Amino acid sequence: MKTLLCVLAALLLITGCESQTRNDTPNNTADSADQDNTAGSANQDNTAGSADQDNAEAPVPEPEETGLSIHVKKEQIHEGSLLLIDREHAVPPGGEGEPAVNLYEHKELRKGFGLLDNTVRLSPDLTEKFAKMVVDAAKVGIDHFLISSGYRDEAEQNKLHKEMGDDRAMPAGHSEHNLGLSLDIGSSLEEMSEAPEGKWLAENAWKYGFIQRYPEDKTAITGIMYEPWHFRYVGLPHSAVMKEQDLTLEQYLAELKEHSISTTSGGRAYEIYYYPISADGNIQVPVTGSCEIDGNNEDGVIVTVDTGPEGGAK
Ligand SMILES: [Zn+2]
Repeated sequence: MKTLLCVLAALLLITGCESQTRNDTPNNTADSADQDNTAGSANQDNTAGSADQDNAEAPVPEPEETGLSIHVKKEQIHEGSLLLIDREHAVPPGGEGEPAVNLYEHKELRKGFGLLDNTVRLSPDLTEKFAKMVVDAAKVGIDHFLISSGYRDEAEQNKLHKEMGDDRAMPAGHSEHNLGLSLDIGSSLEEMSEAPEGKWLAENAWKYGFIQRYPEDKTAITGIMYEPWHFRYVGLPHSAVMKEQDLTLEQYLAELKEHSISTTSGGRAYEIYYYPISADGNIQVPVTGSCEIDGNNEDGVIVTVDTGPEGGAK
């Protein structure tokens, strides 16, 4: 939802996420643009005459394109589904994304789960993602889910921080609940650490793009106590990698700074890269495909490229 499709960014630069496949139709602006590879020249000099000439005979072989040129704006560091929110990294202005709604008042959004009380708010988009997950859990008899907390604005977080103290609650702007991509999930049967709902989520949430954000054995890394109820949406394929490699979001973002990650998800192959934002904002990615850009909320972006069907030739 908040992930920017870099196919759009790439179109502005005219190289395009799918730049390996060339389309030789007349008026194909991509042809002239690819040669110049600048946004400025792309819209100039694209006369029909020259296009016709270019396409009149068998095309002259051109140097093979080996990657993707994208342009990233500085503010994209603070946009997307992978933003790190902790004591050092606050929710950026406007980072809450799609506005949250009161789920008690929006009965149509409550599919397969209850609410702890009538104040729970969450964006319709995240609610839908959560509902998809719990509807699948119900198919195997796990069906006592409830949401105990969703989106919290800064005033609510401030109140909570004062009531619970600095050890138990984050200051305003530093809770994932202020970002709008997290929720606390409960079970009406028993505590989440024991409940079938908690166990099912711990094993399966990654398939739906969610991660258990504060695991029991990672408190030294997250700085947050074990919270079997707190889930964060990061999206696929990221959640799959984090689950498979047993990484928290902190560890995942740090690992991407060390090396790129190749993975598969839903029958597709992905290459995942971290890039610091340079002064000119230009990034050269070594593979092609449709891609997404997510900021890390610190100093750069994660570029996720869908390179095609799993096992297919690139
Ligand atoms: Zn929480």
